[in-house]
Amino acid sequence: MAIFKPYKMFYRVTDITPEFLHTNGIKGLALDADNTLSEHHSQIAYDGVEQWLRDMERAGIKLKMVSNARARRVVPFANKLGLTFTSTALKPLPFGFWRAAKSMGLKVKEIGAVGDQLFTDMMGANLAGVKPLLVTPIKEEDGASFRLRRRLEKPLIKRYKEKSL
Ligand SMILES: [Mg+2]
Repeated sequence: MAIFKPYKMFYRVTDITPEFLHTNGIKGLALDADNTLSEHHSQIAYDGVEQWLRDMERAGIKLKMVSNARARRVVPFANKLGLTFTSTALKPLPFGFWRAAKSMGLKVKEIGAVGDQLFTDMMGANLAGVKPLLVTPIKEEDGASFRLRRRLEKPLIKRYKEKSL
């Protein structure tokens, strides 16, 4: 199951520090939107996210929103947060992350991919060769496909936690 494995797990995106990124050679972040920066489909970022984004930029970290959601969800949210973006990124395909690296002028291995899902964000990051950084979704989504994915994720996340990444 190495293909789903996070490089490091965080509780919230705002727990990722410039120090951690510098220590691990990460100069840019490809940020998932839903359940990473805000609740699913919400245009309102989680508490502290806007300040965290500015702190990251001040620390010289390049940022881009890379979301599987459609433009009508991603564009207003990215604009509000002052982020460039890729919508309909088709994670776990690696191309969105490769494009993000190219647009940041960074090597693939210098990118961290932050997201809440093993089967899209983490798998895509591993396939792309960027560093997968897992965060915990605060509120679970409705709908059968989400419920199935969350149920499949749980034992894996538990195992990764036991190995304390
Ligand atoms: Mg998500």
